[in-house]
Amino acid sequence: MLKIGLTGGIGSGKSTVSALLAARGATVVDADRIAREVLEPGTPGLAAVVTEFGPEVLTSEGALDRAVLAAIVFADDAARGRLDAIVHPLVRKRSAELVSAVPPDAVVVNDVPLLVETGQAGSYDLVVVVEADPETRVSRLIGRGLSEADARARIAAQATDEQRRAVADVVVDNSGTQEQLAEQVERLWAERVSPTAG
Ligand code: ADP
Repeated sequence: MLKIGLTGGIGSGKSTVSALLAARGATVVDADRIAREVLEPGTPGLAAVVTEFGPEVLTSEGALDRAVLAAIVFADDAARGRLDAIVHPLVRKRSAELVSAVPPDAVVVNDVPLLVETGQAGSYDLVVVVEADPETRVSRLIGRGLSEADARARIAAQATDEQRRAVADVVVDNSGTQEQLAEQVERLWAERVSPTAG
């Protein structure tokens, strides 16, 4: 098994790269999706969040009100740390379960937006960092429906390009077109993945 850790700032193009890798046969484990799953109604994760932050983080139907929780943790680093302490271990555990179920010759791509922030670079055979300059990311995020202020706040709350670069084995530059991105992923697959897979 080849374990790839894929990261990059919000709006850099991680999801696009993971879709390109999936098209070549990789199994993608998406940390953001798992982070939502572990807080679904009826989960121990959601119960722990309600114990920590109170019932006001629930909608009237008993689901997590993500907007309310986001407003709390974006305004308060200590609160964010308490949320992370609940969610991150659950995400790591669920990711490990998913990885343990894939065939031994698989290429597994772990799409982990906070790979650098959570100190997980050492867990992978290959760390791939997707980069795009911040202004390009802001305009792509606006295209995806975020407000400009939200896009900038989220970028500012994450690690810097320099911090991500420091742990990268491969840097994919996504400042250009989708075609240029696809060419880089093709090269990555040919040079760094196919020769070592299995
Ligand atoms: P991330 O997963 O890192 O947040 P996405 O892969 O979702 O980023 O990309 C952010 C947005 O930018 C998406 O709407 C995506 O379709 C678009 N996008 C990604 N790469 C490019 C590119 N090279 N040119 C134009 N738009 C792009």
